Amino acid sequence: MLRVAVIGAGAAGLCVARHILSRLNVFAPPVVFELSENIGGTWCYDERVGTCDIGRLIHSSMYRDLRTNLPKEVMMFPDFPFDSQLSSFLPHQEVQNYLRQYCEEHHIRPHIRFNTAVEKVTPVVTTTEGDKVRTTWEVTSSDSSGGQRTETFDSVFVCSGHYSDPHIPNIPGIKNFKGKVLHSHDYKYAEPFSGQSVVVLGAKASGLDISIELANVGAQVILSHGNARLTFPLPSGIQQSAVVKAVDEDGNICFQVIVDGSVASADVLMFCTGYNFRYPFLDASQLGLDIQDHLVSPMYLFMMPPAFPSLFFIGICKIICPFPHFNCQVQFALAVLDGRVTLPPASQMKDEAQRQLRSRLDQGVQQRHLLVLDQDQWEYCNTLARIANFTPLPPVVRSLYEETWRQRRIHPQNYRKLNYRLVSVTQWELID
Ligand code: FAD
Repeated sequence: MLRVAVIGAGAAGLCVARHILSRLNVFAPPVVFELSENIGGTWCYDERVGTCDIGRLIHSSMYRDLRTNLPKEVMMFPDFPFDSQLSSFLPHQEVQNYLRQYCEEHHIRPHIRFNTAVEKVTPVVTTTEGDKVRTTWEVTSSDSSGGQRTETFDSVFVCSGHYSDPHIPNIPGIKNFKGKVLHSHDYKYAEPFSGQSVVVLGAKASGLDISIELANVGAQVILSHGNARLTFPLPSGIQQSAVVKAVDEDGNICFQVIVDGSVASADVLMFCTGYNFRYPFLDASQLGLDIQDHLVSPMYLFMMPPAFPSLFFIGICKIICPFPHFNCQVQFALAVLDGRVTLPPASQMKDEAQRQLRSRLDQGVQQRHLLVLDQDQWEYCNTLARIANFTPLPPVVRSLYEETWRQRRIHPQNYRKLNYRLVSVTQWELID
């Protein structure tokens, strides 16, 4: 029986546990380590900022009024639909409920060790008879009473999420800024910003949504970003600007504009600039990995360090359809473990992973976006399904996902009012 450790009881970790529990002929029941007292990870809204009672950073970056940016019809694990009575775009509480139901339905809860943090994961390589190399994993965890324990597993799934460690770009002179500086990780709701001038840095999902929330309570928002000017309608309280270049000695924010610079003063500087990868329990060099703010490499199939293909990272790619994507990665990883998929030798996996990154760089993808899959996610998931021989994602997932992105670009304030229904594996329809 293969013993598997799962780090994190968010959507990814629950998905690993669910699939292991359906294959108890090969796997021992999983041990899921969860540092908080809840399941759901990102979807556990926490009003606290900074650190919690036991000194750990608050994990969730959820804000009070967040509604999902994908409809439930594509967000769901393909084998576990949301309640059909719910609207398509859900308040975050409904996603947490959904994950609780998933957990109950698949009897996962007894296998979760709550309030238990994984502190260290170490590979132990032994040479067995016939010169075969075997890797096991020592996992050291500590519970809330501080008690430490080290156990041995055949495989470890890293499902600790990557939306918790705020990325703050270097802005010269930021110490001169006299107002409030915060990252979207610590943004909870808009009311305290009413009547204030707020410079929001970054116009991706959170930057845009938070700007709209702020404008709706009467904040004056300067939405600063380096993309092409957004052409869809934004609330009147939002003005777009170029990227912030520096804060001058008077505490004013200088914007980088191609022709001439411009300057603004503001009460608040809000970084919606994404998150860093952070795996404090891993020794990257020991694993042959390079872990940077926005990149973990080389990773075979965006999942495994080539030298240690029994360590799996679920969900490190960005701009994906998360739950269906996790579901594909998990099925693939389990097929590797139980021998249904034979991997190439480590050197070949490393070459392939590096070649893939190089080809993305050659196509003009910036270093910080190398793990953005976006359009490539469908071929990626299909490839995993083909190799490991599991049912691929139904085409309707892609088609409704793409429709949602189209609507988001045209109506960023209103696309969540739409409701959809899946008609077949290839078709969806809009309903009232
Ligand atoms: P997480 O949910 O982050 O779970 C990781 C878990 O690991 C946590 O419970 C944490 O406590 C635990 N953990 C971490 N370190 C340790 C340790 N050392 N030991 C033990 N446990 C540990 N996706 C969508 O599909 N639709 C959306 O609308 C959407 N909106 C989003 C909005 C925001 C603001 C954010 C931040 C993300 C959003 N996402 C959305 C993406 C979302 O992150 C994924 O859907 C998914 O929930 C990620 O799950 P995860 O299990 O990978 O990570």
